Amino acid sequence: MNRRRRVYEGKAKILYEGPEPGTLIQHFKDDATAFNNQKHAKIEGKGVLNNRISEYLFQKLGDIGVPTHFIKRMNMREQLVREVEIIPVEVVVRNVAAGSLSKRLGLDEGTQLPRSIMEFYYKSDELGDPMVSEEHITAFNWAAPQEIDDMMSVALRVNDFLTGLFLGIGIRLVDFKCEFGRLWENDTMRIVLADEISPDCCRLWDIETEDKLDKDRFRRDLGGLVEAYQEVARRLGLHVDNPTQNQGGPVLVRSQ
Ligand code: UDP
Repeated sequence: MNRRRRVYEGKAKILYEGPEPGTLIQHFKDDATAFNNQKHAKIEGKGVLNNRISEYLFQKLGDIGVPTHFIKRMNMREQLVREVEIIPVEVVVRNVAAGSLSKRLGLDEGTQLPRSIMEFYYKSDELGDPMVSEEHITAFNWAAPQEIDDMMSVALRVNDFLTGLFLGIGIRLVDFKCEFGRLWENDTMRIVLADEISPDCCRLWDIETEDKLDKDRFRRDLGGLVEAYQEVARRLGLHVDNPTQNQGGPVLVRSQ
């Protein structure tokens, strides 16, 4: 029986109160949603894979000095994170045209962009996450100008690092979404990378075949989502045994 207090439930994750003040447990569900929740399915094993992949990427980013909310993975589906005040802005970084950018500007998917482009979206399910500019973010007080600068410089660093990391395993990082939070330590506050970075919020294409190894497999009814996420995990050197077999007792997780 689960006696932990549920702090928040989102589309793909649940946040529970953590064991210490200022901590939370981030639980990865198998739910997949798209098109502002109009499309919904349970894809067995997705949560386990995202937990593992996001753990790995946050750890690597932490190793190069990117501040994050991540503390440690607890089990197959859960990780311990620092409690932050989420900034209600999604930061999207794009290297290659795809998805909504291709539609909006009439660019063929796969067109290399002249440089990395950053966009902001206001986090609001009711409004379907509309695209906003820095002007909106500061005028409505969602974040201060200095906080926007911090988010942009961290997002670019994350992009450079992940582009290289994925290139090394034969994957093109087309675009990704990230989120930030305010972390309070005594009287000081800093901006840290929060939420998750997984194939749910990145576009990852195989360099050779251009196969999609991300959530577009679900959005576009291509099938094989768990197999694609498993392939990303495998190339990252992560061993995720039977991601779909996690309902009962403990499951062996091999260390790297
Ligand atoms: N993305 C996300 N959550 C969102 C919207 C977008 O994780 O609510 C990610 C998406 O997976 C892709 C990138 O952000 O890697 C850019 O998405 P895009 O704007 O092209 O939107 P989409 O085509 O998903 O509607």
